[in-house]
Amino acid sequence: MIKKYYLLSPGPTPIPADVLSSAAEPIIHHRTPEFSAIFMEVSTGLKYVFQTDQDVFVLASSGTGAMQAAVVNTLSAGDKAISLNGGKFGERWGKICRPYGVDLKEIELEWGQPFTAEQLADELKANPGTKAVFTTLSETSSGTLYDIQGYGEVLAQSEAILVVDGISGLGATPCPMDEWKVDVMVAGSQKSFMIPPGLAYISFSPKAWELAEKSTLPKFYFDAKAYKKSLGKSTTPYTPAVSLIIQQKKSLDIIKSMGLEKLFEHHRLLGDATRAGIQALGLELLSKNPGNILTAVKVPEGLDGLQLVKTMQGKYQAYIAGGQDPYKGKIFRIAHLGYMGGFDIITALSALEMTLSELGYDFESGSSMKAAQDVLKENWE
Ligand SMILES: *Cc1c(COP(=O)(O)O)cnc(C)c1O
Repeated sequence: MIKKYYLLSPGPTPIPADVLSSAAEPIIHHRTPEFSAIFMEVSTGLKYVFQTDQDVFVLASSGTGAMQAAVVNTLSAGDKAISLNGGKFGERWGKICRPYGVDLKEIELEWGQPFTAEQLADELKANPGTKAVFTTLSETSSGTLYDIQGYGEVLAQSEAILVVDGISGLGATPCPMDEWKVDVMVAGSQKSFMIPPGLAYISFSPKAWELAEKSTLPKFYFDAKAYKKSLGKSTTPYTPAVSLIIQQKKSLDIIKSMGLEKLFEHHRLLGDATRAGIQALGLELLSKNPGNILTAVKVPEGLDGLQLVKTMQGKYQAYIAGGQDPYKGKIFRIAHLGYMGGFDIITALSALEMTLSELGYDFESGSSMKAAQDVLKENWE
């Protein structure tokens, strides 16, 4: 069998062919009107995806760089903050904040369990003087969505800013930055933005800029003020990742021509189809509030979860993701984000069925594909 590789992971994600090939164009110099025109188109396109009137800055780093930028630009050592840790990426806020001396109250959540706006309001009451709340739109380690809209309403009544890691969710599931009162929004290129890893995006609300004026945490490369000043001159403060920005322009053209609403609907359909397939196999989701970005599935009792992922990835080249940390071997994750279509879901489920039967799991052969196809057929546009 020819080893054909199927990328079904929640980042990096597959990339349209013309977006891929645009990186092969000769490099143009970044201090030229030609590059500035492309850069400003990207900048405007990012505002469309963020659904904000604020500037969106482009950093040459992976998504975590923009998370660090969110912390160092808004806080000072000793500032009180709250982070919601419901998985690998929620945990990362704490890992970033602590070395900078942020006085952090980390709320540990069961993976996959929701955290309500009321609970957040209670935490704020119990922790007066909190300057920032760090949270995640789509927790990629558990496939869970959090109530960003609800948190935004709670925090708008307080002095604290709402900082959202939208790295896997933004552009795939609704989270209008301005309307939902998000103060700092962070995204990354290799998830729903349909380009390779290497760029991170960040935007600040007026309330966040007020904090930024007082922030004394050390910063240089990620100092937002430098990016703001340069954006005023249609450029970046340091050498931009030219090819990635050209690719981002290409894929933003696709996103804009489809429109955000259709894009969200597309992800919802893929999510529905995946969940229907998983259910048909008698398998259980990890999340109580699953998003349409990826589906995290519990490995059934008695099966070797590590072997399941190894077989999917190694033998069938269906590159789904395994579980992380406490859920290693206990869950697997099928992504349906970015440049994926209905048949990617069928591919994932087919490889899953072949793997499950090899591992001795009892189920009706073909049932997951049929269930997913029924959902897709009904709604295919
Ligand atoms: C992928 C991801 C990150 C990490 O981004 P890197 O690009 O690996 O730095 C952070 N948060 C979430 C929710 C993610 O899905």
